[in-house]
Order: sequence, then structure tokens, then C-alpha cells
Amino acid sequence: MGLLPIFVSPPIQQIDSKLTCTENVELYVLRLDLVHPLISGNKWFKLKYNLEAAQRENFDTILTFGGAYSNHIYATAAAGNLFGLKTIGVIRGEETLPLNPTLEFATSQQMQLVYVDRQTYRQRNSEALRQKLYARFGKVFIIPEGGCNLNGVIGCTEIISQDCQSINFDTVCIACGTGTTLAGVAISVNDKQHVIGFPVLKGGGFLKQDIESLLTQYQVAKNRSWELICNYHFGGYAKVNNELLRFARDFELEYGIPLDYVYTAKMFYGVMDLLQQGYFRYLNRRRLLLIHTGGLQGNTGTKMNQGFNF
Ligand SMILES: *Cc1c(COP(=O)(O)O)cnc(C)c1O
Repeated sequence: MGLLPIFVSPPIQQIDSKLTCTENVELYVLRLDLVHPLISGNKWFKLKYNLEAAQRENFDTILTFGGAYSNHIYATAAAGNLFGLKTIGVIRGEETLPLNPTLEFATSQQMQLVYVDRQTYRQRNSEALRQKLYARFGKVFIIPEGGCNLNGVIGCTEIISQDCQSINFDTVCIACGTGTTLAGVAISVNDKQHVIGFPVLKGGGFLKQDIESLLTQYQVAKNRSWELICNYHFGGYAKVNNELLRFARDFELEYGIPLDYVYTAKMFYGVMDLLQQGYFRYLNRRRLLLIHTGGLQGNTGTKMNQGFNF
């Protein structure tokens, strides 16, 4: 992967507010949204070893899955284009024209889009659908939806860098979709550091098992200290309300950090709300590292889709 130098190491930004002061808590944001202009956030980490495996095993085509606004589809299309791999995106639902900005971009990066109905999409991890895809597209390297596999986890163990560790944080906060990122981060932190995941899907408790299974695949020997806080989903995946949109807008105005509405806005909202309630002070957690996992490309689509004009 000769083009790697265009990736920059993510800056860490401290957030000072009245609240952090009165609660006596330090807040730091790891800006993964800035690692690359197109392959942003945690998606790069989840793709990295998948792309490497594909190249090593002489595949010339990557096939993966996602919804119409998927950050993973966006990042895979860009990464494929950058590293000279063809890409096929299996998209949930029917084609709608004109293409939304996410799929328009994917097409501009030469990704071939294939639409499947929701019922077929639900089978995305089944062997039967895999065989059908091989029959139709030939030799393709299949990456699961969201980059959720062992290679994805391994990439995410690289998120917490030396720079991060020099802050000496005691808690890391992450927005969770599949939990792959959380698994990688939980593997890489030390015994004294605790990881909190904020699922953005309703009823995110099911993620606990998925994450445990990813940790088992990685064969982690010792127990990791992590938990999920499941009540900041705002109605479910990609659901937003005015309160969340207003929070994201005010946060950006105050700290200069844009948040995406599907993932990071919900996690940051949750952290600020817990901070306000004295949660971290009560648990004697003093240094929080919030991982900004990127995803900003999706904001236009989310707003258009839900009729918000904010
Ligand atoms: C995909 C995504 C996540 C979720 O990552 P998982 O590893 O699936 O939990 C979080 N934040 C952003 C911005 C994302 O695009």
C-alpha cells in the first residue's frame, strides 16, 4: 500500500467547558474524522487489514454490503479506488434516482452498485448468499457489512496510539454500530482503562454478545473492562430529533468539532448528559477520551431523508 503516507495521525483536542470544570473532568477528543479526506474515521482502521489480505491473496475485487447512506460503502469505494482494487457495493433496498450523495460518490469512485431487496439483504452473512455472489461476480473478496470481522478488529487495535496513551485517560467512549471498533479498542487499552460503548441502534444490548464473540475470535486472554450504555439511541439507527441536531450544531459552534448525526452526535450527547448528571465524578473517572469516528459524509443525506431543514 504505497499511498499510505497521505493518512495523517489524528489530532487530539481537549474540550474545556464550565461543565468539565465544575465536574473536575478532562475531556479529550481523538479526531479520527481527520485521518483522510475520503476514507475517514474508524472505517479506515476496519478496512486496512481486509484490503491487505485481499491484495496478498491476489484478489482484484472487493465486495461489501451497506445501506444507502453507509459510511462503510463510501470508505470502501474510496479505498478501492485509491489502492487499485475494483469494488462492488451490495446496497439494501431499491435504487432511487437521482442517487443520494453517498451513492453518487461511491459511483464516482468506480464502485459498482448492486441493489437487493431487504429480505435478501438480511441473508448477507449466510453461506447461501455468498455462493450466489461468487457465482455472479466470480473471485471477489467479501468484507462483511461495516467491516465487521477479525481483520476489522485487528485494525481497530491501532486506534489508540502512543499519543493517546500519553494523555493517561481512564475512560474511552465510542459510538457503536456493529461493535467492531469497540472490540479493537477494548483489546488495546490497559488494565486500568475502561471502555464505554454507546449503541446507536435501539435495543443495543444484543451487541454485547456480538462484541464478546469478536473478542473470542481475537483470543484475548484477559478480561476487558467495557460496558454498553444503551439509552442514547434517539429512537434507533439514523433516527434524529431537533434536540440532537441542535446539540450537534451548538457543539460545533462552541468547539469547532463537527459531529455526524448517526453516530458521534449521539455518543457526545450521551457523554455530556452523563457528565451533567455527575456520573463520571461519582465513579471517579477523571480523564475521558472520546473517539470521533468520522462519518460526516452522511449528514447531508440524514437531513434530506428526514425532512429536517436545520
Ligand atoms: C461505522 C461507524 C461507527 C460504528 O462502528 P462499529 O465498529 O460498527 O461499531 C461509529 N461511528 C461512525 C462515524 C461510523 O461511521
